[in-house]
Amino acid sequence: MKEPASENKPKIGVFSLTGCAGDQLMILNLEDTLIELLSKFEIKSFQEASSYSENIRLDIAFVEGSVSTEHDLEKLKEIRDKSSLLVAIGDCAVNGCVQAMRNSQTSIAERMLDVYGVEDNIYRALEPKGIGEYVRVDFEIPGCPVEKEEVFNTLISLLNGDPPLIPDYPVCVECKLNGYPCVIIEEGKPCLGPIITAGCDARCPSLGLDCVGCRGPIKGETNAKAELEALRKRGYPDKYIINRLRFFAGNFPDIRILGERKNSKGEK
Ligand code: SF4
Ligand code: SF4
Repeated sequence: MKEPASENKPKIGVFSLTGCAGDQLMILNLEDTLIELLSKFEIKSFQEASSYSENIRLDIAFVEGSVSTEHDLEKLKEIRDKSSLLVAIGDCAVNGCVQAMRNSQTSIAERMLDVYGVEDNIYRALEPKGIGEYVRVDFEIPGCPVEKEEVFNTLISLLNGDPPLIPDYPVCVECKLNGYPCVIIEEGKPCLGPIITAGCDARCPSLGLDCVGCRGPIKGETNAKAELEALRKRGYPDKYIINRLRFFAGNFPDIRILGERKNSKGEK
C-alpha cells in the first residue's frame, strides 16, 4: 500500500479509561504488521506505547475502559469533543465488562464501605458503564480483550473510509462454519455461545470448552431468558447461570434484570 503524505494521514489517538489496558496491548501485539500499519496514520496519543501525547483535533479516537469515575467521564467528554470518529475498543468500553458485574447488586456506598470502610464516595466513583451511555460512539469492537485481527481490519477499513465489519451473529455460527461439535449437545456444558457476539472463530468450542461470553452479548438480539431456560433444562442452577451471564455483561438490560437484588420482602 502506498504511504500517504504526512499531511494526509489520519490523526489518531488511543486512550484508556478504567480497565486493564489489555486492548491497547492487543494493538501492540500486531507486531508483524504494526510498524507498516501505523505508518499510515499520525499517532498523537497512545498511552501504553509512548509518553508522547499531543492535545490536538483527531480524526479517530480509540477508547478502551469503562466510565467508572467522574474523572473517566470528564476525560471521555474531552476526547469526544476533539475527535471526528470515536471507536470503543473492548468490552469495558462497549458495555462495562467485569467491573459492572455487581452493578445490579450493590450500591457505590456499599462498595466503599466494604473496601475502604467509609460510605463517602472519596474516589468520585460512578457505577461502571460503557462509553456509549454517555457520549455518541461511532463503532464498537467487542472482546475481553479485542481480537488483534479485528483491530487491524478496523484500521484498514477506516483508512479506506469504510465502516468496520463487526459480526452481528452468535459464536454458534462460527461453530457450524467450522464443523465443531456443540459442547452443549455433546457434553452438556453451559456454553453461552448462542447469545455471544462472534468474531473469535469459536475459539473455546474449538478446544472442547464452553464459551464464557468474553465478547459480550449481541446488542439488541440477546435473549438471556431463553439461554437461562436452556441451561436450566440441562440441570444448571439459576444462580450459577446468572452469575455466568453477569460476568462480562452485567449491564445488558436483559441480563441485569435477571441478577437484580431482591429487597427484604423478596421483591426485585
Ligand atoms: S458449542 Fe456453544 S457456541 Fe458452539 S454451537 Fe454449541 S452452544 Fe453454540
Ligand atoms: S468462545 Fe466465547 S469465551 Fe471463548 S473467546 Fe470466543 S467469545 Fe470469548
